[in-house]
Amino acid sequence: MNILVLNTGSSSLKFQLVCVDGKSENVLASGLIDRIGGEALIHLTVAGKTSKQTAPLRDISQALAHLIKALQKLHDQIPGFQSLADIHGVGHRVVHGGERFQSSVLITPAIQASIVDCIELAPLHNPSNIKGIEAMQEILGPNISQVAVFDTAFHATMPETAWLYALPYSSYRRHKIRRYGFHGTSYRYVSEKYRSLSGTSLKDCNIIIFHLGNGCSAVAIREGRSIDTSMGMTPTEGLVMGTRSGDLDPAALELLATKEGMTLNEVQIMLNRNSGLLGISGITSDMRDLVAEVDEHQDRRAQLAIDIFCYRARKYLGSYMAAVGPVKAVIFSGGIGENSALVREKITSGLEHMGINFDTERNTSHPQGKDSIISKPESPVEIRVIATNEEIMIARDTRFLIEREPKL
Ligand code: ADP
Repeated sequence: MNILVLNTGSSSLKFQLVCVDGKSENVLASGLIDRIGGEALIHLTVAGKTSKQTAPLRDISQALAHLIKALQKLHDQIPGFQSLADIHGVGHRVVHGGERFQSSVLITPAIQASIVDCIELAPLHNPSNIKGIEAMQEILGPNISQVAVFDTAFHATMPETAWLYALPYSSYRRHKIRRYGFHGTSYRYVSEKYRSLSGTSLKDCNIIIFHLGNGCSAVAIREGRSIDTSMGMTPTEGLVMGTRSGDLDPAALELLATKEGMTLNEVQIMLNRNSGLLGISGITSDMRDLVAEVDEHQDRRAQLAIDIFCYRARKYLGSYMAAVGPVKAVIFSGGIGENSALVREKITSGLEHMGINFDTERNTSHPQGKDSIISKPESPVEIRVIATNEEIMIARDTRFLIEREPKL
């Protein structure tokens, strides 16, 4: 079964065409369309070859139409893909599922309306996901099976003590203001991979995972289930990220709005787009570039941004060690977690008193793109690097739901 996996953002679109047969997954084509809204950049990889081109693409709908045409043109290079009829389903990453969605679902008109209802909880994310769903209905026809896979769903198992904010209870009852958590699809993939690599049962799966990419979060997992996570009602809470502040005293918002003459919406955009590594360094949100800036120019604020990023993550590690109980492994994933030996070292070295024995040699020799153990062999708590793969998880869920509830 060929599944088109889509991750639609406000100005970018990531996709994979995956053949899933129940035993294995094979990526037939993949790519990225960036800078949608202007002269977009299109990267398309088919049969190991990547092509790059530009095209004026006004919105998500035009970008998806462009993508489908490009796949049709290349059909003779994609095994098992002759025409659009060979796309058997579409799996969408949907950022916010609110309290309603605790697992992936086949999209019906009623489900679509409920995803629209979640927009007020994720005004920066869900609208693009909805546009992606609508565009695919137009392009592939109303009978195409589409599945929504929610970033929030994995955290539905969190206890109320972890998800309720200490606000007047009515703010939860009336407006559903609470912590939901995100990156759930990545955490599901990484925790399942950890169990298969280590032979750990669900019952014994007590771990902490860091997903460190452009967005960053951590999760505390007990008996295979999320019991706490660092992102909250929206992805802004928690760790320092590429452009997001993470944890912040809410009183700062009013002061900023008053002193800078900003609306609350403008402050919100500042916390999400101009803060984090970018805000502190004033240079870039990209960890690799920040590290280069420190190496080449000893830039003080670039160094400070890296230090604050790692210190915040280390604090969360300490608190989740207390939340989970005896922890078996701390796992790094995401672009930074998988590739930055420096960041992994700054977060987990010198924690022998907590049973975490970091191994410098194993950390620096970790092969990029692979899974490995970077703690000392005698360490009571393992430290691991596991490459995440949200797209494969979305493809698996999509196939499972289409086979369970086939269209008549
Ligand atoms: P997204 O969250 O958009 O999927 P990624 O998971 O790809 O993003 O992570 C992007 C981040 O990973 C960027 O900050 C990038 O600089 C960082 N990164 C990638 N490779 C390296 C590396 N070798 N060293 C340090 N950081 C890296």
